[in-house]
Amino acid sequence: MNKNEIRKNALSIRGKLKSEATDNKIVDELSNIISKFDNIGIYYPIGSEINILKIMDKYPNKRFYLPITREEISFIEYKKEDTLIDAKFKTKEPVGDITNRDSIECFIIPCVAISKTRQRLGYGKGYYDRYLANYKGFKIGIIYKELNNLDFKADDYDVVLDLVIEGWLIMFSAILLMAGKGERMNMEINKILLPLGNKKVYEYSLDVLLKTVDEIICVISKDNEDIIKSLPNNVKYTFGGKTRQESVINGLKLVTNDYVLIHDSARPFITKELIDDIKKELLNNKNVLACSKCKDTIKELNNNKLNTLDRNKLIKAYTPQCGNTNILLDSYNKALKENKEFTDDLSIVEYYHPEIETKLIYASDDLFKITTALDYELAKLLWRKYD
Ligand code: ADP
Ligand code: MG
Repeated sequence: MNKNEIRKNALSIRGKLKSEATDNKIVDELSNIISKFDNIGIYYPIGSEINILKIMDKYPNKRFYLPITREEISFIEYKKEDTLIDAKFKTKEPVGDITNRDSIECFIIPCVAISKTRQRLGYGKGYYDRYLANYKGFKIGIIYKELNNLDFKADDYDVVLDLVIEGWLIMFSAILLMAGKGERMNMEINKILLPLGNKKVYEYSLDVLLKTVDEIICVISKDNEDIIKSLPNNVKYTFGGKTRQESVINGLKLVTNDYVLIHDSARPFITKELIDDIKKELLNNKNVLACSKCKDTIKELNNNKLNTLDRNKLIKAYTPQCGNTNILLDSYNKALKENKEFTDDLSIVEYYHPEIETKLIYASDDLFKITTALDYELAKLLWRKYD
């Protein structure tokens, strides 16, 4: 793709999505890097750009400069109390004297996309290219991870960045449900604690989530408090409630990201590829449901009358089930208030927020839930593929 196509694509992927979690994470990373500079060029965020202005709170003694755009851009010192005036491109600008470019030791630059050669793509006006031509200081690009390292041919004049800091467009939490009882297996022990290969059942999904999501909340049973000690430090936990629905609410309350995936730890064979597919769909603002086609014929029994359902219209709902955290919380709270019981997560959202589409992702049959003793035997035959 050429630069124009990449730019159009990148801006449409970015859309109006904004994540404060991403802003905060990038500001944290930035604050270490800029510690050695005293004069720093920053930017006022436009639209869905990552907001780095909080960096000023971390360093009250450093000097910061914001751009103003006329024929070309130039930078003016900005202190937190200073007024900003509305300017073109829906940005805000400080007022005052223009600073000499080379007295600014480091520029933090917003990027629309970045090439594999670490060159920046902007909005197509070339302001930064011209302003920073022959600049000898340090250039830091800020970019969404999904738009970094793209395969396009940059031009010689495109700014080459010294360092790139990236954050996810979508910050993603996972609630891992571990508070099941395993009643249907007639076992004393919670089935997710059963040994499977070299690990326990729940550790398969936990290990995949540790590699793929930004935050994990395990919902555990009070009876299995021992698990807490074995959880990695960066994993949060809470206790399950009387029903699955209560357990999910307890988990949802701890989520700090905009999107969340809910997964049954009794489905050990989840994959990184499946989670990557889910992330792509969430970008389109849909709910996402992992599922599989129905191979059996299902009959409905109604007042002793049998009705055979059309198998082609039936799907089996699996987990993960994913969506926007606030929408899920709103739906669960409404269900709680109205005392309504549902058997899975997205059916609650479908009921209270029918305006949101659900995207189906057909997963491997291996994503089955260990429910019966036979399922456990099957898992024992399969674990090597997922170790
Ligand atoms: P952006 O960097 O904002 O994505 P482009 O790289 O597409 O924008 O550049 C926009 C225009 O600016 C191009 O027509 C390019 O020729 C011009 N330009 C960029 N850098 C320079 C430079 N150093 N001197 C003169 N013109 C430049
Ligand atoms: Mg350019």
